[in-house]
Amino acid sequence: MDATPGSAHVPTLSAEAAVRDIVIVGGGAAGLELATGLSARYRRSSSVKITLVDNTRTHLWKPLLHSVAAGSITASEHEHDYLALAHWYGFRFQYGEIIGLDRTVKQITLAATYDDEGRQITPERPLPYEVLVMSIGSVSNDFGTPGVAEYAVPLDTPEQAKRFHRRLVNGYLRAQTQSEPLRPGQLTVVVVGAGATGTELVAELHRTTRELVGFGLDRINPEKDIRIVLIEAGPRILPALPEVISTSTTKTLEALGIEVRTGERVAEVSAEGVRLASGAFIASDLVVWSAGVRAAECLDRFDGLETNRNHQLVVTETLQTTRDPDIFAIGDCAQCPRKDSAAPVPPRAQAAHQQAAHLARQLPIKLEGGALQPFEYRDFGSLVTLSKYQVIGNLMGFVGRDFRVEGLIARLMYRWLYLNHEMAVNGGRRSVLGTIARLLARQYRPAIKLH
Ligand SMILES: Cc1cc2nc3c(=O)[nH]c(=O)nc-3n(C[C@H](O)[C@H](O)[C@H](O)COP(=O)(O)OP(=O)(O)OC[C@H]3O[C@@H](n4cnc5c(N)ncnc54)[C@H](O)[C@@H]3O)c2cc1C
Repeated sequence: MDATPGSAHVPTLSAEAAVRDIVIVGGGAAGLELATGLSARYRRSSSVKITLVDNTRTHLWKPLLHSVAAGSITASEHEHDYLALAHWYGFRFQYGEIIGLDRTVKQITLAATYDDEGRQITPERPLPYEVLVMSIGSVSNDFGTPGVAEYAVPLDTPEQAKRFHRRLVNGYLRAQTQSEPLRPGQLTVVVVGAGATGTELVAELHRTTRELVGFGLDRINPEKDIRIVLIEAGPRILPALPEVISTSTTKTLEALGIEVRTGERVAEVSAEGVRLASGAFIASDLVVWSAGVRAAECLDRFDGLETNRNHQLVVTETLQTTRDPDIFAIGDCAQCPRKDSAAPVPPRAQAAHQQAAHLARQLPIKLEGGALQPFEYRDFGSLVTLSKYQVIGNLMGFVGRDFRVEGLIARLMYRWLYLNHEMAVNGGRRSVLGTIARLLARQYRPAIKLH
């Protein structure tokens, strides 16, 4: 097995003519689960090879990013090394960013990679495929708002989440040691976008900033000096959830002292803070942008594949791209039709998980020339965790109806979602051991990350 970065798998006609390459680009919630799922089937096959491509070397489940940003968890305790997973499961891993697609010769191109000192790690190289699966996820959508790219932090990658956390802790250390009084906005965090990510983040920040101050930062008065503001353009927070959940969550956040400003559109972000369309200005040293997602613009340039205005690849109900049946797209980067609904499948972890499981069953059928079954998305509902304060959500279609869950049951279900992903990508034994290791680590480490 070749799992070495840089050693592109280019089959020669004589030696590997019979090898059938399934290439998966993007090892996130969708792509990594597909790679491990397919590898379980083809592990001992010499005729079918699974290759996973990613532009990073470790995987962190994206729904954990706001916890990394707030400092409630340490990213390294939850990251999985692609090379190790490739070795354990029997797939190949190629490190690099996809920069080109040639459908005529059925080949993608990976960009060269470099280390921090500018030395090349892997060269630019081609990678042939028989079946290609695109699962490169999404990025924050700033809707062209001035200043967002320069001054707001998105939560698309672990690096961005870690950068936000470093800036947060540095700001508190600065406030503790400076001789002059606090500037307006110095300990203010503005989170733009009150979907699940933004809403969960403000609750996490409320807890971790207070715990941070508890570590001897006695010149900061949490009630007076720390300000957390959640801004939403729509009429209510958590627009994708039932109104009753949105109302209850707003009450919880406001009781904590978090400012919830709905019906407010951000007109500009600057180094000093956030200007709203209403003309109001909120001074803030830290702005997080979580106001929606879109796919990467590069998908528009991939050899004529159909994309929508969010740059997502348009796929049919079998998850095949509309213009090439050998190219599939799953997860956030795909616009997938939904039975009984005009809206497409939403960009969520549970959709990515279901699509990966579906393709893991369908791709073997494709290789054998059989007819593919359509993908049917099943919405199990949503859970929102407000740090230690509350977990709330709605479950859909259980025992024939939808119902609201809260408290311990909701918290256990939220944990189960992650464990489910862990087990899919890391196996049952390693997931259980990882959970135990993290529980033990809590006994000798601070409950929050301090650096
Ligand atoms: C902070 C946060 C909290 C969330 N919470 C929830 C939640 O509670 N519940 C829920 O259902 N959903 C949640 N989501 C959404 C969920 O994380 C996504 O829907 C899900 O991760 C999508 O999976 P994916 O595989 O499509 O993309 P991702 O998981 O983002 O994976 C994409 C992968 O592609 C790689 N990649 C990107 N570009 C390239 C390239 N050009 N070349 C090679 N590789 C590339 C990336 O490194 C990454 O590994 C949350 C998202 C965020 C940001």
